[in-house]
Amino acid sequence: MKKLKFMLLILISIFCLNSCLLTTAAAGTYLLGTMGTYYCAEYGCTRDRTEKDVDGFSNVNVGKMVIGDESGFLSCTPYGIMQLLEGYDIDVDGKDVVVVGRSNIVGKPMAMMLIQKGATVQVCNSRTKDLSKKLKKADIIVVAVGVPRMIKATDVKEGVVVIDVGINRVDGKLCGDVDYEDVAQKASYITPVPGGVGPMTIASLIKNTFISYQRKIY
Ligand code: NDP
Repeated sequence: MKKLKFMLLILISIFCLNSCLLTTAAAGTYLLGTMGTYYCAEYGCTRDRTEKDVDGFSNVNVGKMVIGDESGFLSCTPYGIMQLLEGYDIDVDGKDVVVVGRSNIVGKPMAMMLIQKGATVQVCNSRTKDLSKKLKKADIIVVAVGVPRMIKATDVKEGVVVIDVGINRVDGKLCGDVDYEDVAQKASYITPVPGGVGPMTIASLIKNTFISYQRKIY
């Protein structure tokens, strides 16, 4: 019976962690109910205890990110991408970067973090004119759109670094916003879906949570 209770506890924990991570990936609305009241709307986010805002979505943490104050928590997906670039020695300083997508959880914070590191950033959206022309000039492309395999090899230049944030399901299989097989022939680096940005988002969330624990703010 004890063993059963223990197994049940583990299963509930895994379920909670999964829901928490999935929610974070989708909208970052709520983290296990332990982080205080959290509200995320189209025009802004507030959390009553921003020091525990491990998603990095609160107004305070977004503000800190914009001015480069490192005492706040950085939004997990773009933070994971910055770690990925650093891990592969891809210097963004002085590079032309195109970010496709302007959401509050990916596109905008991504652009801010890249700017902090010296990149020249262009942020595109669904109304952008001649996206392909802009993409062809980019040294680094980050795509967070939600349209399966939208970016093709003909849209990018030789040697480009491509970060695919998109998670789409087509015929029961996951794929990104980038046509991986096609673009991989031209890219110097490209992230796969699944197994690219997703795990980095989770790693960043765990890192932020651990930092929050270390600060011992309860
Ligand atoms: P949103 O729907 O909030 O934003 C999508 C953005 O893409 C919008 O800015 C939209 O423009 C733009 N867009 C849509 N269609 C086009 C187009 N044809 N050309 C150019 N821009 C376009 O999505 P999210 O940022 O939340 O997520 C984007 C994708 O990333 C999704 O697939 C999501 O599942 C995935 N994701 C993955 C994560 C991970 O950890 N791997 C984490 C978070 C998200 P406009 O503003 O004009 O409408």
